[in-house]
Parts: sequence; C-alpha cells; structure tokens
Amino acid sequence: MTDERIDLRSDTVTAPTRAMRAAMAEAPVGDDQYGEDPSVNALQERVAALLGKDAAIFLPSGTMANQVALRTLTRPGDDVIVSRECHAVWHETGGSAANSGVQFTEIGSRGTFTADEFVAAIKPRGHVIYPPTTLVEIENTHNRSGGVIFPQQEAERICVAARDRQIATFLDGARLWNVMAATGMPLATLAAPFDLVAVALSKGLGAPGGSLLAGARDLIATATRYRRMFGGAMRQSGLYAAAGLYALEHHLARLVEDHANAQLIARRLAESPRIRIDPATVQTNIIVFHLADGAPDAATVVARASARGVLLFAFGPRMVRAVTHRDLPRAQCERAAAVLLEVVARD
Ligand SMILES: *Cc1c(COP(=O)(O)O)cnc(C)c1O
Repeated sequence: MTDERIDLRSDTVTAPTRAMRAAMAEAPVGDDQYGEDPSVNALQERVAALLGKDAAIFLPSGTMANQVALRTLTRPGDDVIVSRECHAVWHETGGSAANSGVQFTEIGSRGTFTADEFVAAIKPRGHVIYPPTTLVEIENTHNRSGGVIFPQQEAERICVAARDRQIATFLDGARLWNVMAATGMPLATLAAPFDLVAVALSKGLGAPGGSLLAGARDLIATATRYRRMFGGAMRQSGLYAAAGLYALEHHLARLVEDHANAQLIARRLAESPRIRIDPATVQTNIIVFHLADGAPDAATVVARASARGVLLFAFGPRMVRAVTHRDLPRAQCERAAAVLLEVVARD
C-alpha cells in the first residue's frame, strides 16, 4: 500500500526530466562573472523579454532574489509594507532584518491588500519618529494563503500610489507563471507595474534550481553587486540556465494541468464534513485546508497520510497544505484525495 509515494509537500520536489538533463549536459557555458556564459545570457534575455523589463539576472534561489531585491530598494531602518504571511516574513530565516536591516509592516488578509490599506499603512519620510516606508512588496501567487492570485487592478493602483510617494515596488513572483496560466494575462502585464520582479524556475516549472530578478538596467546593475556581496554570483551556471530555458519551452503551458488537479483534490476534500475548504478559493496549484472540530489535528493527518505514502505539510495546528506539480499525474491526485478522506474519517 505504501509502494507508491505521492509527494504533495511542494512543487519544489519535481525532478529534472531526462530531456531536461540532456539539455543541461549539452549547454554551452562560460564564466558568468565575466558575462561569458551564453546559456545564462540567453535565459536572462528571455526572462527579461517575457517580463517586459530591460534586464534580468540569474540567482541561485528565490530567497536570494528576494533578499537582493530588498537590499537594492531599501536602506537600513526603512519600513517595507507586505502582505500578511508573505515569504519574506515567514520563510527566509529573518534574512531581511539581517541583510537589509528593514522592518516589515504586514497588511491585508488572505495574501492580498487594497491600495487604501496600503496608503493607510505608509509612514512618511523625513519625520523625526516614523521609520520611512520606502518599499511595497506584493507576493503573487501567495504561498501561505493557498496560491491566491493578487487582483491585478489593485496591484496597479498600489504601484501608482507608491510611485506618487517615491516608494519602490517589488513583485515576489516565484509562482507568477501560475498566475499567467490561471488568468491568461501575459507575464509582461503582470510585471509592468513593478520596479523589480522575481520569478522562480524551481517550482512548477520543474528546473533543479534558480530564480531571476528583472527590472530597469540601473537597478539590475545594483542588484548584480548585491548578488556578489551575498555570495550568489556563480561561474558556469549555464548548466542551471539550460534547465530553465528548457522548462520555459516545455513546461510552462502545462501548468493548467496542475491547477485542474488541485481543483479535483479540493472538490473531493470538500465532500468531507471534517474538512473545511471552499474549492472556489483554490485558484492555482496550492490547496490549504482546515480540519473541522472533531477531526484529527494536522500533525495526525500528516502522519497517517505519510504512512500511506501521501506526503503533505502541516501549516498550522489544524491547517494542512498540499501542492500539485508536474510529477503528479491526475491518477495520483485522485488517489491522494481518497487517502486523505480516509485518514480524516478515522478518530
Ligand atoms: C518558494 C518561494 C520563494 C523562493 O524560495 P527558494 O526556496 O529560496 O527558491 C520566494 N517566494 C515565494 C512566494 C515562494 O513560494
């Protein structure tokens, strides 16, 4: 019964395919610190074009992309306005305080906030008491809120309000590909309002690693310095870049399947009176569900499912997260839902 492992912990667990490995093996490479890696250069140009920005740089991880963006756009002591439970606050081991010396103000709910909420949270510059707000960051899709899409019109309003007040704007778009897949909006439209935009290759796209940061040429030049300062400047990173180029070519269009599979799991789970989930709130490939009173707690559900080969994360005492991805075909998602329904039904 446990011979088949169904890993719903994250879309980062995907393994490079044989064809992706072949593309990596054949990639032309050079020393990227001299700007001489043709594969890295090609990926950077491709992603800059997709996002409608002047330039982009390759970084080893999404966390470093976020850290470099914050360092580029803020000074120590500054205030950064973010959505509640964003990646930078919860998943980067306090890096923003350590590397950039900034403080966060979390606003809104369920991963989004309005332009009015943003304006109300801004602290003025040049005041003897207030920490100046110099950056607003939006996470799209929002990980901890369950892959929620940030409403684009509101993002545009927020960025206009920011620009009027000389506040910089940053989009943590680690899963921006999923927004495009779900809404049909071009990446360049989603990225347009922001000064800097980060995207990840290691999530739904299935590459073994790497993220990119894109923006205006002067900002990317500054970011390139901080990438080096933070230890993220690499050499023949074209091996990774080739995987990224392959993923953009072959794995982007199929993200809609992950979303359909997430819908399937959410609808099945909603059948149980012991699970609280509204499938309409599952917009992309992340399913966050709550265990109703009387149901076992999240740790118990995760342990029981794991014993049956279905891997998930407890995201709170009574909250569980499941993520669909390219290594989980529909049949495995159906089986995972059936196992979850069984383990929550037990007392
Ligand atoms: C995964 C993720 C990142 C980057 O994480 P790494 O594990 O460092 O690649 C950044 N932001 C969000 C919203 C993420 O989900």
